[in-house]
Amino acid sequence: MARATIGIGANIGDAAATVERAIDALDELGRVIARSSLYRSDPWGKRDQPDFTNAVVRLDTSLAPHALLAALQSIERRLGRVPGEHWGPRAIDLDILLYDDLGFEDEHLRIPHRHLFERAFVLVPLAEIDASFEAWRDALPPSERNTVERIVTRGE
Ligand code: AMP
Repeated sequence: MARATIGIGANIGDAAATVERAIDALDELGRVIARSSLYRSDPWGKRDQPDFTNAVVRLDTSLAPHALLAALQSIERRLGRVPGEHWGPRAIDLDILLYDDLGFEDEHLRIPHRHLFERAFVLVPLAEIDASFEAWRDALPPSERNTVERIVTRGE
């Protein structure tokens, strides 16, 4: 059994509902053992698109890294992802951020994810569920950290 950390983002339609559906779908790949709150973030790269909704999940799974990537891509298709332009709007994006303490790279997969340590929309939710990333989050420039805010849900 491996422990994988998955980054989730969506910015088309009811993005918060899609992220919640993705978390439910991830639970079918093993067992979700931790999940962050939902966060709203400014769009990256291409700015003229809707805000993103992001979350991070920790998953215990027996899938090997490439099988996990294939399973994530299948969930993306199921939840309405269509091939689009790089950095453009997407119904759902699922990334493998970490996989145990693996360091790996081939043409399909790079672990840790290449943007893990530089993007607030990854580090802010990740630090919520794993305190060992708080220092990385706090090292972000405030102008970057301020692009991400926790979504307060009903009942809080
Ligand atoms: P994206 O536009 O973020 O969905 O990019 C997906 C592409 O990134 C896929 O073709 C993957 O093969 C590649 N990729 C490389 N490393 C990773 C990773 N750690 N998690 C998910 N996709 C990855």
